[in-house]
Amino acid sequence: QEKILQVKNLHVTFKTYGGYVKAVRGVTFDLYKGETLAIVGESGCGKSVTSSAIMGLIPQPPGKIENGEILFDHKNLATLPKAKLRQIQGMDISMIFQDPMTALNPTLTIGEQLTEGVRTHKGLSKSEANMKALEMLNLVGIPNPQERMKQYPHQFSGGMRQRIVIAIALICEPTVLIADEPTTALDVTIQAQVLELFAEIQQKTGVSIILITHDLGVVAKIADRIAVMYAGQIIEIGNKREIFYQASHPYTKGLLNSVPRLDLMDEELQPIDGTPPDLFDPPKGCGFTARCPYAMEVCEKIEPEKTMLSNSHRAYCWLHDERAQAVFPSK
Ligand code: SF4
Ligand code: MG
Repeated sequence: QEKILQVKNLHVTFKTYGGYVKAVRGVTFDLYKGETLAIVGESGCGKSVTSSAIMGLIPQPPGKIENGEILFDHKNLATLPKAKLRQIQGMDISMIFQDPMTALNPTLTIGEQLTEGVRTHKGLSKSEANMKALEMLNLVGIPNPQERMKQYPHQFSGGMRQRIVIAIALICEPTVLIADEPTTALDVTIQAQVLELFAEIQQKTGVSIILITHDLGVVAKIADRIAVMYAGQIIEIGNKREIFYQASHPYTKGLLNSVPRLDLMDEELQPIDGTPPDLFDPPKGCGFTARCPYAMEVCEKIEPEKTMLSNSHRAYCWLHDERAQAVFPSK
């Protein structure tokens, strides 16, 4: 499978009055062509910071990419100058945010907002851009696109607005689409329609999607692979069946606990007892130690390394690591 994007050992910190928050701590994953990779986890786990880093949207300062690479099209986005990043952003990699209302400009017509990107990034003429915009509105299922182009965001329903946001994100034919909680602000029926739209668009365009969400129902519906993040790290990653049916990390199991069946999933992440560790001063060992029912001596002292459970499935937990015995042969 062709790798479209590779994130390697990404570290992001934020400077605050209280000190440095280590928001992302060594995140590594690949994104393949035409797949949907879901990144899931509780709020504050680093999933949005990871996607912002890919988009070049970390405000620096107070944020800083301390370490790591984001490889895309033979470039390292982590170190690319701002001007170059801006060319990629919106063109090759585009992003959809949670709230369609803040993503749209209330003072510009839908047509103006749709055509702006292709005119600046792709140098299309006004009429070419209009043609392209109509095509996109058709693709996302907006009726009467010709008339609708002349209208303003407030003249559309929430679901229609999110379709427009998706059309804007796709008009430059990006190879990667990052969607951060794209359906959270929508009611359930519209949510289902928007998710179907994602699947349809992916089939038609071959775009690779990174889906950031805390909603396991959404993940069950459209993800091919799932990365589970906790305390700034990916603690388990695998294809959908591996995560839903063969979850190995105690945190992943906890998340899936009360909704073990894929076909019955329509649940948000389940709360797990306790709170995540302080990322001003992250634990030396496994970040989940304080909440983990299986925690061992080794967990507190040494960070678990990668264990490959299959070619596509890896976890970071001492329970699955033979080396734990060698380090602490107590039992
Ligand atoms: Fe629990 Fe230890 Fe695994 Fe961390 S490494 S999840 S504390 S068993
Ligand atoms: Mg978020």
